[in-house]
Amino acid sequence: MKKIIIGNWKLNLDHLQGIQLLQKINYSLDKDIEEKIDIVLSPSHTSLRSLQTVISTDNLKIKISSQDVSTYSDGAFTGEVSAMQLKKLNIDYSIIGHSERRLHFNETDNDVNIKLTRLLENEIFPILCFGESLEQRSEGSYLEFIKNQINEGLKGVRKDKVNKLVLAYEPIWAIGTGEVASIENIVEVLDFVKDLVSDKPYFSDETVKLIYGGSVSPDNSSEILNTSIVDGALVGGASLDADKFVDIIKSVNL
Ligand code: PEP
Repeated sequence: MKKIIIGNWKLNLDHLQGIQLLQKINYSLDKDIEEKIDIVLSPSHTSLRSLQTVISTDNLKIKISSQDVSTYSDGAFTGEVSAMQLKKLNIDYSIIGHSERRLHFNETDNDVNIKLTRLLENEIFPILCFGESLEQRSEGSYLEFIKNQINEGLKGVRKDKVNKLVLAYEPIWAIGTGEVASIENIVEVLDFVKDLVSDKPYFSDETVKLIYGGSVSPDNSSEILNTSIVDGALVGGASLDADKFVDIIKSVNL
């Protein structure tokens, strides 16, 4: 399966800095790399339009993701951005359920499920993040917790609505800490999730990508990305540095 590498810029960079980083990444990549790997950048909402304009003007193959989407379609919801508005900007993907949103903005599995539905209605590919805390891992309850996150997040999803779905295993204890999950941890969880979704109607190897995120860097990316069950990576900190991000992309064996 074609691997996917997603850069989550979080609350960093204005739109001019974003354009610079996009151009630097693009310049450092081989011309045909995007035919072999899906490359996705996820900037703040304020940069979506500028980056998308550069991509269409220069005919780049890099795709853009938003970092979130509203549960609402329209109306009196000040500050929200809807899936339909993102679609009008030709945004391909949207991250939902990132642990930082669950933690700091009280996002629930039900919110994640509504967001997923809004994205699918608008033909935007969801990148659904899930993963356990350190406490859940040490208690041994992490697989049960993940099962619940996945089942609740994907409730009601229909095969005819799903073109592509990315499920990103992001253990909370590995995000931004420099502590990367072991290959055994990653394989155990992705195998578990693959089994969990494989009897659901929307699942096929073509439509669902299983990826890992949490302190991915050029030092560990080759081992992670060249493990067969791992379809890609969600990269936070290292995606803000063009050289590191490109090194991560280049560590995929083609
Ligand atoms: C993330 O925020 O999705 C992430 C994986 O961050 P980092 O790579 O910095 O751990």
